[in-house]
Amino acid sequence: MDVADIPSVPEWLPDHLREDGIESLYPPQAEAVENGVTEGENLVAAVPTASGKTLIAALAMLASVERDGTALYIVPLRALASEKQEEFAEFEAYGLDVGVSTGNYESDGGWLAGKDIIVATSEKVDSLVRNDAPWLDDLSCVVTDEVHLVDDGERGPTLEVTLAKLRSLNPDLQTVALSATIGNAEELADWLDAALVDSDWRPIDLKKGVHYGNALHLEDGSQTQISVRQNEDQPAAIVRDTLADDGSTLVFVNSRRNAEAAARRLATTTEAGIDDEERDRLADIAAEIRDVSDTETSEDLAAAVEQGAAFHHAGLARDHRSLVEDAFRNRLVKVVCATPTLAAGVNTPSRRVVVRDWRRYDGSTGGMQPLSVLEVHQMMGRAGRPGRDPYGEAVLVASSHDELDELFDRYVWADPEPVRSKLAAEPALRTHILATVASGFASSRSGLLDFLEGTLYAQQTSGRDRLESVTDDVIAYLERNGFLERDADGLTATNLGHTVSRLYLDPMSAAELLDGLDDATDPTALGLYHLVSRTPDMYELYLRSGDEEEYTMLAYEREEKLLGAAPSEFEERFEDWLSALKTARLLEDWADEVDEDKITDRYGVGPGDIRGKVETAQWLLGAAESLASERQLDVAGAIREARIRAEHGVRAELVELASVRGVGRKRARRLFAAGIETPADLRDADKSTVLAALRGRRKTAENILENAGHRDPSMDGVEPDESVSYDGIGGDDSSAAGGSGEQAEDRQAKSDNQANLGDF
Ligand code: ADP
Repeated sequence: MDVADIPSVPEWLPDHLREDGIESLYPPQAEAVENGVTEGENLVAAVPTASGKTLIAALAMLASVERDGTALYIVPLRALASEKQEEFAEFEAYGLDVGVSTGNYESDGGWLAGKDIIVATSEKVDSLVRNDAPWLDDLSCVVTDEVHLVDDGERGPTLEVTLAKLRSLNPDLQTVALSATIGNAEELADWLDAALVDSDWRPIDLKKGVHYGNALHLEDGSQTQISVRQNEDQPAAIVRDTLADDGSTLVFVNSRRNAEAAARRLATTTEAGIDDEERDRLADIAAEIRDVSDTETSEDLAAAVEQGAAFHHAGLARDHRSLVEDAFRNRLVKVVCATPTLAAGVNTPSRRVVVRDWRRYDGSTGGMQPLSVLEVHQMMGRAGRPGRDPYGEAVLVASSHDELDELFDRYVWADPEPVRSKLAAEPALRTHILATVASGFASSRSGLLDFLEGTLYAQQTSGRDRLESVTDDVIAYLERNGFLERDADGLTATNLGHTVSRLYLDPMSAAELLDGLDDATDPTALGLYHLVSRTPDMYELYLRSGDEEEYTMLAYEREEKLLGAAPSEFEERFEDWLSALKTARLLEDWADEVDEDKITDRYGVGPGDIRGKVETAQWLLGAAESLASERQLDVAGAIREARIRAEHGVRAELVELASVRGVGRKRARRLFAAGIETPADLRDADKSTVLAALRGRRKTAENILENAGHRDPSMDGVEPDESVSYDGIGGDDSSAAGGSGEQAEDRQAKSDNQANLGDF
């Protein structure tokens, strides 16, 4: 279909598409248009990665806006929100207003009311629904990216319920759902009353295969020789072979540690394949990486990048990740070793994809479990760069003949599994049933059941009995804990229930927090960090071998500081208690100004993990503050202090100083040591003292003085006061978590307080 023939879209669109090199629609896109996607019809498009799904979404949204509507684009990952917004921002040249909804969960995002296209995560949309954002009633089109993630145990239920709510708020809403190729696209289409485009068309051919011995066996029956040299493993041989043809490779592995180790190993292979100019440019990127933070992870990443290799996982700081992605897209970095984060939508195609690990550790079974076909196919779909490569190749790695056969059967020939609703999981139902009542979607048991009928879960559960019995259990739990009240058939949320729903807490987290706070007098920071760490909303740190003993000792030592009744060593929840204590101690170390690299070392985490824990703790402590005032408990001051200390990573005496923009933990400590103890001191400070404490960095000093409200922040002609000593206070601030300076501010701006969801 020629772009000029798309009905109901803005007049400027065909020319705009041609400027982007798009003359005619890809077959699945044309099929979507034939099914009325630009005319308000519901559509499920199950299409492989990189086959132009985003344009289907754009067509639906632009046509909807053309009819004076408002469109919402739901992304599965925060990281994708800004990427998509940037993509749609090109429509602003034609007068459209595109917004991305970040910011905290408690606002109704009123400023979004005037936008034409809004990008948000499903958690954010869910919270907007809970906060009654009035503009949601005016939505005319909702697009869900990666709708197959309803299958995800953690975030799937929110997506599912959010879609059901939006559709029940506005029965005329156009729903467009984009999905990877899955086993039951038909069922999703039924659920959403939508037409279905189910296609395995790709703009560039994908050949799947398995490397075994010295050959790559492809699904078309062909074999390519890729010999493994001495001192080389199979991935290295494949990377070398790809490089010889000037191509890049993505290697997927099953853990962060493996990603780092593989990058280190493959760096020797890529090193041999880069020229002098590339080496210079890689050195510049490595320097930028080192600037992001001074941790071991940062150093390891920089060292690999200097040689043309990199790793990529959720433990990296955000700036690290984007530096790696850019360098890979610019073909400077020749291989990226990644955990599946990258497969989840970040747009980084490469000539070859190697899926090195097809099993992953699974905590619930305590052993290695095979990845799903859907996951493996998603990773494989990253192979082949349209316009650059004749075709892409996606390769699994076998170490025996039996494994070669098994991998062909299990992944190469296999179709992806059907997706299944995970709404029946208890935390999900608890949270969503409370929210559904609190936000007025249902006011009786039968109303609740009717609402739940609109979910995929109901569609996939035969008979209403099971739905009724889980719903009754959850209602009973919520009633028992004072979140809901019931009379006859009627259900209402209590004030506490409303607060919990608005705060976006799992009701069980709220119950745990209240239980710990109820008879707390003078809680310590550690006590509070432990309390928030044991709620289901915090991902606890795992206990490694030896940890159990260490933290059992600590639990006895610090027993009085911990809030609520401690379990005995023989109870099952004791281990959880200890994991929470480990998490709490990480937070305490951070708030005691322990160096970031010591923390990453001590707890076996990356800098991005510290940031994640800190953000979640901040959010949960904020929620605890609200709950405490709801109950009129006299602990709000202590919670606030613990929260701000966690936010900035400082001891109590630096809380005020570190709150000045641009200061941060290490600079605050040095200023304090130089006698500048409060923002007021800073406002009237002697400039040469400030300059010395900030290690002679004029620009930084000027910014900070300006933020503190100094009359004359200029550092012209000022010399650092030599008598000011800051020895032993550590390097400069550029830490991944709560650091200071522009980078940290930028990170802060990008973060939208949803860290409780984790970045997988
Ligand atoms: P997906 O969202 O399915 O992963 P994208 O929408 O990112 O894939 O599309 C991949 C690439 O294909 C983009 O660079 C996009 O500009 C390009 N593209 C999409 N549709 C067309 C088309 N009809 N003709 C040419 N290129 C297209």
